[in-house]
Amino acid sequence: MASGPVIILGSGLTGLSAAVALKRRGIAVTVLESAARAGGAVQTERSDGFLVECGPNSMMVNDPEVDSFMREAGLDSEIIRPGAKKRFLVRGGEPVALPSSPAGAVATPLFSLRGKMRVLGEPFIARGNADDESLADLVRRRLGGEILNYAIEPFVAGIYAGDPEKLSARHAFPKLWSLEREHGSFIRGALRMRRTGPRQKMMSFREGMGELPARLAVMLGEDLRCHARVESIAESAAGWSVAWNEEGRSKRAEAGTLVCAVPAFAVPQLPWSPAVQGRLGFLGRIEYPPVSIVALGFRRAEVGHPLDGFGMLVPSAEKRQILGTIFSSSLFPGRAPEGHVLLTTFVGGARQPDLAALPDEGLVDLVCGDLGALLGVRGAPVFRRIIRWPRAIPQYNRGYGEVLSALEKLEAAHPGLHFVGNYRGGIAAGQCIRNGLRLAEEIGTRKQS
Ligand SMILES: Cc1cc2nc3c(=O)[nH]c(=O)nc-3n(C[C@H](O)[C@H](O)[C@H](O)COP(=O)(O)OP(=O)(O)OC[C@H]3O[C@@H](n4cnc5c(N)ncnc54)[C@H](O)[C@@H]3O)c2cc1C
Repeated sequence: MASGPVIILGSGLTGLSAAVALKRRGIAVTVLESAARAGGAVQTERSDGFLVECGPNSMMVNDPEVDSFMREAGLDSEIIRPGAKKRFLVRGGEPVALPSSPAGAVATPLFSLRGKMRVLGEPFIARGNADDESLADLVRRRLGGEILNYAIEPFVAGIYAGDPEKLSARHAFPKLWSLEREHGSFIRGALRMRRTGPRQKMMSFREGMGELPARLAVMLGEDLRCHARVESIAESAAGWSVAWNEEGRSKRAEAGTLVCAVPAFAVPQLPWSPAVQGRLGFLGRIEYPPVSIVALGFRRAEVGHPLDGFGMLVPSAEKRQILGTIFSSSLFPGRAPEGHVLLTTFVGGARQPDLAALPDEGLVDLVCGDLGALLGVRGAPVFRRIIRWPRAIPQYNRGYGEVLSALEKLEAAHPGLHFVGNYRGGIAAGQCIRNGLRLAEEIGTRKQS
């Protein structure tokens, strides 16, 4: 049985949360991070009075475990809640607010009468029996094509930067999938869950999402080794032996447990022994579409729209070039200087991957064109920052069940080896934290027994 200290490769939210939770249990931990800083996808920058989120802009938390973890990390006083909750969907070239009540849903101009009638008929549609249906097929079957194109497709672009025709309903949207399985209908199931399920709460931190990994990194102190280039990973008498180079110095550590918390595409590139290496090819095949983030600051007076909401999503049926825009300075305070607004726009994804690779000027022109038409943005941006994610978010596409079972087999064949990260068990930041905490608990409990 595995024992002794734990080595964690990668300091994204999953690796960091697992490391802090293990340390709290009195288990020695070393985190090896190849980059200069911890946090992976979670990064915040401040310049010229604008606060730019390079990755997630906020996170949803409905998990008491995650809540108390953040409290114990001393982040309670830093947590901020959204100032604007309205969400807009673009239809017919205009941002239209999503309805927030059943009466609003009946009256909304977002969907045709036919589309609304189709939704009302959903509880009477027979339960499907496909085991690994695409999200698009599931939604078309139960809610019709209009809801797919004007509600689900843009949301999927906003969450996964993904394509509903490819995503597995079962794995990418397990709650929705199980509503049909368990209740025979989304509507019936959702009404029952409303009475019992916890409410999700959106949050960020005063100085941005980057505060979270920064705080966790401080808690790890010297146990977090940045600029670490892993040179060999071998199974040893102790369990695992890892050698790495840290700014020119060679180091080595032995551990009973090795947690691999790097992105799926980075796993096969690590220097594994041939026994492990030969079984990792499937991880390199998980699709990660590119996304470019274009954060633009404008003078408030030069934007026609009141920006009285969270942001807008743009369905592909609208034939625009952007996926959506977060009204960052409406969402949380302190994101733009007085008299200015910050708009954070997402380009590319599985929908239009080539657009993400446009040069900077091309991206800014494309975004300004769409923002001009949709939000009445007139002047040129007074601030601009472009962040490129050539491989942004793993897609839980159809066939993803095979990835999960291959991971389980691999772990069973190599005791003390764990694979975690957003390609397993949920892509959302809150889910990554929860998965890190659960892994720490599993390792900690095993060590005690
Ligand atoms: C643009 C974008 C927007 C997002 N928006 C949201 C949002 O609004 N809400 C939300 O909930 N979620 C959002 N997410 C998703 C969420 O932020 C991520 O899923 C989550 O942060 C990923 O955490 P992770 O632990 O899997 O690892 P990652 O963040 O991928 O970190 C992995 C770490 O491993 C390190 N690493 C890689 N190779 C090696 C190596 N060889 N040796 C050592 N270390 C290595 C990397 O440097 C990195 O630090 C967004 C993601 C992106 C990219």
